[in-house]
Amino acid sequence: MIPIAKPLIGEEEINGVMNVMRSGTIAEGPKVKEFEEEFAKYVGVEHAIAVNSGTAALHVALLAKGIGKGDEVITTPFTFIATSNSVLFTGAKPVFADIEENTFNIDPESIKNKITKNTKAIIPVDLYGHVADMKAIMDIAEDHDLAVIEDACQAHGATQNGKMAGSYDVGCFSFYPTKNMTTSEGGIITANDGKFAEKARMAKSHGSKVRYYHEMLGFNLRMTDIGAAIGLAQLKKIDVFNEKRMANAKLLNEKLKDVSGIIMPSAMPGCKHVFHQYTIRVTEEYGMSRDDVIKMLNDAGIGTGIYYPLPIHQQPFYKELGYDETHPVAEKISKEVISLPVHPSVTAEDIDFISERLKR
Ligand SMILES: *Cc1c(COP(=O)(O)O)cnc(C)c1O
Repeated sequence: MIPIAKPLIGEEEINGVMNVMRSGTIAEGPKVKEFEEEFAKYVGVEHAIAVNSGTAALHVALLAKGIGKGDEVITTPFTFIATSNSVLFTGAKPVFADIEENTFNIDPESIKNKITKNTKAIIPVDLYGHVADMKAIMDIAEDHDLAVIEDACQAHGATQNGKMAGSYDVGCFSFYPTKNMTTSEGGIITANDGKFAEKARMAKSHGSKVRYYHEMLGFNLRMTDIGAAIGLAQLKKIDVFNEKRMANAKLLNEKLKDVSGIIMPSAMPGCKHVFHQYTIRVTEEYGMSRDDVIKMLNDAGIGTGIYYPLPIHQQPFYKELGYDETHPVAEKISKEVISLPVHPSVTAEDIDFISERLKR
């Protein structure tokens, strides 16, 4: 079986964890601090605040931006549920804008149509490892005085015109084992604004700067030194991991280019797409339903994923909340996408095998 995702854990990660275990400091401690410093350097920002998941990163970022009841936050319906749920956690309202067909990311024109006097922030998502149209989004945010919380949970190391994902206003990353790098569970927030960083640190740790003095309602969303030790080892390898993903994606693009009915993923000019997912669209001309394609691949031992089969505004829980709008592009795309394995353990022979099956 070629799995759709596989974390690569080596001796460096294992030794790092063992050292933490022997140190006796197993919760948040010096390794978390070191990981924060190294990650901030990697993204090229002043501050990084480690937390225990990507979901927590989004939640804490919104809290530290002061977003809550009565506020609206514009985001994409074509993402993992955590993106918009984090808005609900704060009491604010997620407002969905449709996506662009070619990048699967939020459409800046659609964002403009959703802005009201209650809009406080935009959460673009760098879906599959391709940075959203950040230039256009930052311009809109500036015109309307909005915060931008970039959900870069799938985009460690991705760039747009040389600028790193997570280096704009606020960035949120996940280190779940299927992501481009891992800490087991984990997440991190990146920012340049010192005041924001201070508030984020409070929000993830019971609202206190000084232990047992509480200035705001906070949570316990801290990363552990065990996770940070894994993250420090992974951070040294992330660029190599990403290069392998990109090389696999390039091979698949070459091999699938003559197959009619399959639309391959492409990077926009100036974008380094880090292929958290390599996602094709299967259209009618292919002559086989998506379900049948998935079955054919799975039967051949090829893992697949559908990210995501149902846009968030159509999820039962959101319907209950009263969402009854349509976002035609997200709805169409969600019925066409299949992700294929390109993670660093996938070999050139695996790529041959996958493309042969799809050609047949
Ligand atoms: C993984 C992911 C999250 C949530 O991260 P967790 O670490 O699983 O909490 C949020 N948004 C996107 C786009 C993701 O892919």
